[in-house]
Amino acid sequence: MRVTKAIKKEQLRRLEETYKDEGTMLHYTSPFTLLVAVILSAQCTDKRVNIITARMFPRLDTPQKMVALSLSDMEKEIHDCGLYKNKAKNLLGMAHELLTKFNGEVPEDFDDLVSLPGVGRKTANVVRSVAFGYPAIAVDTHVFRVSNRLKLAIGDTPEKVEEELKKVIPMKNWSRAHHWLIWHGRRICHARNPKCQVCPLLNVCPSAMIKVSAWKP
Ligand code: SF4
Repeated sequence: MRVTKAIKKEQLRRLEETYKDEGTMLHYTSPFTLLVAVILSAQCTDKRVNIITARMFPRLDTPQKMVALSLSDMEKEIHDCGLYKNKAKNLLGMAHELLTKFNGEVPEDFDDLVSLPGVGRKTANVVRSVAFGYPAIAVDTHVFRVSNRLKLAIGDTPEKVEEELKKVIPMKNWSRAHHWLIWHGRRICHARNPKCQVCPLLNVCPSAMIKVSAWKP
């Protein structure tokens, strides 16, 4: 199947129709708690992160409270999260830098955000988009895989996929589309066994495991 502009438009239309305004699964109450949750979510499911933050946030929902913890106490707080030792160090470093460089506030600027320990391009984009409402597309493992399978974006790095998606998706929909692709990856287009038989994009997907007649514009 050749994935034309019309097919990409139809793929996006169906994703929007299916996932509408579904947002992040992570629980948060402020830009700071969102930033903490997103840092914890690398190599860890959102469900697990929500269990950990439900335990932590009643006591540790500001950088001021967080920096009062020792490294070993922080490790204990998040011991059931993947890569917890590294994340504990990053969380304390991040909280410390917020206090020393940003008045205790999470910055909105992309370069300021990625200057914080534990904050990469994906995390910065999620925080800018979800906490501050900037149009952004964060490319995580689901967005990367689903975009590649649909040939909506064929880049071989998250940065290339982000750039391609920004060209094919209207800016007003960047943040919503990021969630459509995540939800599609979580619910249907799984890494190992994609559920093509129930996929609403079956006849517009060049990677479908089931052969059907391609959709015609
Ligand atoms: S048809 Fe299959 S491979 Fe294509 S998007 Fe749907 S689940 Fe993924």
